[in-house]
Amino acid sequence: MMKTPLLISRILQHGSTVHGDSEVATWTGEGARRTSYAEVGRQAARLAHALRGLGVTGDERVGTLMWNNAEHLIAYLAVPSMGAVLHTLNLRLFPEQLIYIANHAEDRVVIVDSTLIPLLAGVLPHLSTIRHIVVVGGGDTSKLVKDGVEVHAWDEILQGRPDTFDWPEVDEDDAAALCYTSGTTGNPKGVAYSHRSIYLHSMEVCMAESFGLGPQMRNLVIVPMFHAMAWGLPYAALMSGAQLVMPDRFLQAAPLARMIEVEKPSFAGAVPTIFTDLLAYLDANPTDVSSLQEVVIGGSACPPALMHAYAERYDIQVIHAWGMTEMSPLGSIARAPFGVDGPEAWAYRYTQGRVPAGVEARIVGPTGEAMPSDGKAVGELEVRGPWITAQYIGEDGPDPDKFDNGWLRTGDVGTLTPNGYLTLTDRAKDVIKSGGEWISSVDLENALMAHPAVLEACVVGVPDDKWGERPLATVVLKEGAAADAETLREFLLTKVARWQLPERWSFIEAVPKTSVGKFDKKRVRSDYAGGSLEVVQING
Ligand code: AMP
Repeated sequence: MMKTPLLISRILQHGSTVHGDSEVATWTGEGARRTSYAEVGRQAARLAHALRGLGVTGDERVGTLMWNNAEHLIAYLAVPSMGAVLHTLNLRLFPEQLIYIANHAEDRVVIVDSTLIPLLAGVLPHLSTIRHIVVVGGGDTSKLVKDGVEVHAWDEILQGRPDTFDWPEVDEDDAAALCYTSGTTGNPKGVAYSHRSIYLHSMEVCMAESFGLGPQMRNLVIVPMFHAMAWGLPYAALMSGAQLVMPDRFLQAAPLARMIEVEKPSFAGAVPTIFTDLLAYLDANPTDVSSLQEVVIGGSACPPALMHAYAERYDIQVIHAWGMTEMSPLGSIARAPFGVDGPEAWAYRYTQGRVPAGVEARIVGPTGEAMPSDGKAVGELEVRGPWITAQYIGEDGPDPDKFDNGWLRTGDVGTLTPNGYLTLTDRAKDVIKSGGEWISSVDLENALMAHPAVLEACVVGVPDDKWGERPLATVVLKEGAAADAETLREFLLTKVARWQLPERWSFIEAVPKTSVGKFDKKRVRSDYAGGSLEVVQING
């Protein structure tokens, strides 16, 4: 067979010619601005010429501080295709973390959305390797001042550049993109995706067992392009011809509902909290969302009640998926086996899903021994495969805390069935260790979120004199709804064992979220420890 390197430039060339008519629509708040994949290809060539002009000639890192939009897609394609390395900067990190990752990656150029100029201006004095800033969308750049740093306007540096580029034949194992984990403890850790890993991962994303992308689909990419490469959807779209609907910075429920009504996507992907808010909005503000057939929910455990609500009230099928930044990120996707449908399918759909051919998974016990994949043995999940990182960047080798002889330790605890279905009970660090027993915080959350009055519930382990740790339930009630701790405890009793019932309850306005929209359990624990939560104690 021919040895054709698997390169991002090949995805770009294919998408912008064979699927040149496919569209990327970027929401503007009012309606959408549109461009075609053919034009995206021409703009990518112009950007590559412009970046060459700024001295990007090797594997320099080009950072992006951008929302999901057409320009970010162009950077996604141009930067790796020219042999440089794309570094997606998470705009929701704390400033010191943003500074850390930009310096750690040695970003030389940063492409910034004009709405994010204040954010960049705030950290700019501390960015030690940056030489050029490219501003997308005009606006006041007077605050972007630093010695040795030049500021350019996207439109100006692309203008007049050739619309083709002689994409270099780089090594498929070279780094194409970097993403840092959104780690809530310590500094974020960097993962380098290679051209080859992105290419293979994109093919998996397109497969019917995964997202099943194709030219018939219109894809609303809510998951940010700065979080785990937007689950690979941008590259998979160019590969398959699937159209893209990009929400830009309009990520609240009301504009998302409007976008769905107007742009008629057939598919969307996001973390559970986005779809929880959207559901509450749709229930209160009837909107035509009939174009949406499937939404993939991942990044945190998807409550079964949310899946049922969308299926029953809106005829939208929620597909649950699991992954990690370290895994590009797709790790598993929950479709029922062939021939299982109707009510029987739910037991499979609640799980984190089935691993695809590119992901090998095993469950490991406390002393590192492999445990059976029998759907019963509970242990830490370990994975390996061609789109899973072998180590973090800048480290001398695989850190033994995170890697186990060629396997990635995921830090997730659960079971695996013989036919590859993964059920996670918790993050290892979030499992509640009560006496000698473990309580799954996720099981309690899912059970609570099935109560009609509950919008969100976040459960964490807190110190307890007698048991070591006990669950604290923090609950956000739906607008206008009422339920007290006694009622919720009674309700929980129908779903979990009595000894698992939380004694400590706190009713809060909103669950604090991490930079990628997950429940921030570390913050809930520290709020509790610091005494800032109003807690009701019920001993049952
Ligand atoms: P990140 O790298 O930010 O995407 O975080 C990866 C982690 O998110 C995983 O190790 C899991 O703990 C968690 N996660 C992702 N998807 C799911 C899911 N479907 N169910 C439960 N946890 C999930």
